[in-house]
Amino acid sequence: MANPIDTLADQILHDHISKQEAVKSFASLPEEGKQKLISILRQNLPGFGAVPETEDASSNRPPVLKAIDQRDLADSHREFIRNLSAEYERRVPTSKANVMKYQDRFVDQRRPFHLIKELKDLHFQLSYRNAEGAHVWDADGNRYVDISGDMGVNIFGHKPPFLVEAIKQALDRGIPLAGYSKATFEAAKLFCEITGHERMLFTQSGTESVMWAVRIARAATQRKKIVLFEESYHGLSDVVLAAHDDAGRSYSVVPGVLQEFAEQIIVLEYGNMQHLDLIEERAGEIACVLVEPVQSRHPYRKPVEFLHEVRKLTLEKDIVLIFDEMITGFRVCSKGAQGHFGIQADLATYGKIPGGGMPTGIVAGLSKYMDLVDGGSWNFGDGSMPKAKRTSVAGTHTQNPLKVAAVLATLTEIKNRCSDEGGCDSCDCFQKDLNRKTKELAEELNGFFTARRLPVTIDYFGSLFRFRFLNSYWGITEALFFLLLRMNGVETNIQGNCFLTTAHGEEDILTVIRGVQDSLVKLLDAGFFAEAPVVPEPQGAKVVPAQAQAPRPEHVQVKVARSLTEEQVALLRNLIKADLQGFQKGKG
Ligand code: PMP
Repeated sequence: MANPIDTLADQILHDHISKQEAVKSFASLPEEGKQKLISILRQNLPGFGAVPETEDASSNRPPVLKAIDQRDLADSHREFIRNLSAEYERRVPTSKANVMKYQDRFVDQRRPFHLIKELKDLHFQLSYRNAEGAHVWDADGNRYVDISGDMGVNIFGHKPPFLVEAIKQALDRGIPLAGYSKATFEAAKLFCEITGHERMLFTQSGTESVMWAVRIARAATQRKKIVLFEESYHGLSDVVLAAHDDAGRSYSVVPGVLQEFAEQIIVLEYGNMQHLDLIEERAGEIACVLVEPVQSRHPYRKPVEFLHEVRKLTLEKDIVLIFDEMITGFRVCSKGAQGHFGIQADLATYGKIPGGGMPTGIVAGLSKYMDLVDGGSWNFGDGSMPKAKRTSVAGTHTQNPLKVAAVLATLTEIKNRCSDEGGCDSCDCFQKDLNRKTKELAEELNGFFTARRLPVTIDYFGSLFRFRFLNSYWGITEALFFLLLRMNGVETNIQGNCFLTTAHGEEDILTVIRGVQDSLVKLLDAGFFAEAPVVPEPQGAKVVPAQAQAPRPEHVQVKVARSLTEEQVALLRNLIKADLQGFQKGKG
């Protein structure tokens, strides 16, 4: 008798079935069945589920255990959670009490983020007392090795003396906002010198930087649409918040963001070369392509060739290419992802690291675009005037002296610690050392995960890294892992990005390694990882980017070509792609 998965795959491949039917059948399959079906569809449908170029450390792993989720909880698991809650409560009572006491007044969208009902008693942010070097202390005096990296801001550790000194001195001079300071000019000059951009302006946050960069691009091109990529993050402004449905139409994903705004955004798959055709076809409408070169949520995706193609195409079509370097900027190397990949964007957005912890953003790029903000250069004593065509970009705290002092001090430190000889590849900079430390940490722990058959992997890029639970997305086991990690003296950020800084010494890194190992062993012992049935991969089903796929075996090509018209293939893809992708994304 035919295997039911093969039968279903065959039906999908040969018959026109409704979305409902396809999705219902898919949903009713056991997990391994879903994986197998996806593999068969990938094998038979050109381009189906193609993924960008990856260095996914988990892809060659032997079969692993499976993290249990909320539905699998037995009494013993519940008891483990009860005991943990009691211990946690004893450890961080002030943080918990603060949240309860002030929640009527204090609003923060992170509070319910990733909330799992069964772990509600354990789900709250810590209140911090102070931070120094690689450590942070909570309101109850517990010390943690901080790998939250302050969401990517922190590269020199907390309170580096050069930064404290610069901000204190600026404070002593007062905080006048209307005029310029010497530091404003010096910071701008140094920023351009390090990054290679022609001109720069300060903003108040990363979100604002992206908003202004897109505005400049629209003003320059007089076009409306912007292209961005699935699973990228560019802040939460109305300019960038959209998802796309199976037919490629953009829709608003956040209540309060107008559908009319979403319709100006074309959302494409990151790394999919075929989607570049769409940019080419609609070039006349597109003001800019906005790229998060290495998505912080997927640090293993580094679609270098794709990025080079995007650069080529945007130059050809006079579309402004914007690199969002909020996290990659100054982290992977002093010239950011642009230096790392050897691609110069027209505009780039920054924040985080250069601000040294003060609220900062930066937009930088070619003079021909930046001049649209202030009219460019002109002289005194002659007839020259600013360029007439200008857009509006400003803010009260744009050049706040405390922040400017922090930027100047941080950039000076970066410059002093980077030889800048021979560009990003060969220069002897502090980031290299930091990147190496991160790689070693990731490799050591990935080795541990493999040896213990744990469904966890660390993805990393530069000194950014993330724990990724395979075949699960924020299930109870993952949530407990991060809580246990905290109880082992390691602080992370609920959003998932982790970072090393120059302040992390060997002892700190050992604390992280031991903390991760201990937390996972505790969960193993308590039965939070179960044996998962082994699913044999159908031959040839290894996932490779569509553009890199080897010619398909003759019989498969004939089967698809004869049985399905191109229209049917497209329809089928549209029918189930969103759901399958949701499954893939959700499950790892
Ligand atoms: N772009 C990227 C790539 C980011 O990572 C972030 C913040 N994490 C932003 C934009 C928004 O920056 P901010 O939170 O400073 O507004």
